[in-house]
Amino acid sequence: MSSTPSRVAIVTGGASGIGLAIATKFSQNGIFTVAIGRDEAKLAKAKEILGSNGTTIQADVADLASIPALVEKIHANYGRIDILVNNAGINQKKPFTEVTDEEFQRVINTNLTAVFVLSREVVKKMLAQGGGSIIHISSMTAYYGLPKVIAYSASKTAIEGITRAMATELSAQGIQVNAIAPGFIVTDMTDKALNADPERKAKAMGRTSIGYMGKPEDIAETAYFLVSPAAAYITGTSIRVDGGNAVGF
Ligand code: NAP
Repeated sequence: MSSTPSRVAIVTGGASGIGLAIATKFSQNGIFTVAIGRDEAKLAKAKEILGSNGTTIQADVADLASIPALVEKIHANYGRIDILVNNAGINQKKPFTEVTDEEFQRVINTNLTAVFVLSREVVKKMLAQGGGSIIHISSMTAYYGLPKVIAYSASKTAIEGITRAMATELSAQGIQVNAIAPGFIVTDMTDKALNADPERKAKAMGRTSIGYMGKPEDIAETAYFLVSPAAAYITGTSIRVDGGNAVGF
């Protein structure tokens, strides 16, 4: 980069699914976007899609000790960090009594602890620069009970809690903190969790009032809205983008 871009975003899990759609929407609309992921092949494809207004970094957010240096590197390279989208996430579908301590902890580490550590490091930069916007990606599991996803449900429900707590502590200092709770969106994650389980898919669709699964772009539109001037007075909320799933019968 020859000069400091006007706004810089980090999107974790930005090389596939919902994260890639958000990174693409941002980079196409003047926000220089750094997409983070582990899989080299997915990152290479994402870099092509993002073009000159974005880049990718291979990093494992579950490696908590590496996060401060990762944030320092991004800040040093691009001069600022205005937006953080905590989108990287993993799921594990297994009956409650069969989930081991390690499996439970692995999901919590990626979906919750890494979100805290990354947010803490980025917030330090945002405070020094006078503000920013953070978006956490929540889930319907924060709104109602789903069987066989105990660790995922715990992590996403906690995401709603840290959204409120962070907004309360940071909003007066210019940092907006919000969540987006997607319903059932067509991605690799739902491909694994739903397509192999037609009964679960029918149940999920049965209560999705709009009648079909969402697209990653549906979430990207809301993320872009949340970082736009139109959302200047929105903080501490979780926006459901779910085709009516959470209120469906
Ligand atoms: P996805 O395509 O599987 O995306 C997950 C992304 O997270 C991948 O790009 C993956 O990249 C990245 N990731 C996972 N662990 C990581 C780690 N330790 N370090 C760095 N990157 C990591 O699934 P998705 O549906 O788009 O999910 C995105 C988010 O939306 C997740 O938080 C998920 O819980 C949430 N969500 C999805 C739905 C839905 O219906 N699809 C509904 C509600 C919530 P690598 O493979 O390169 O590691």
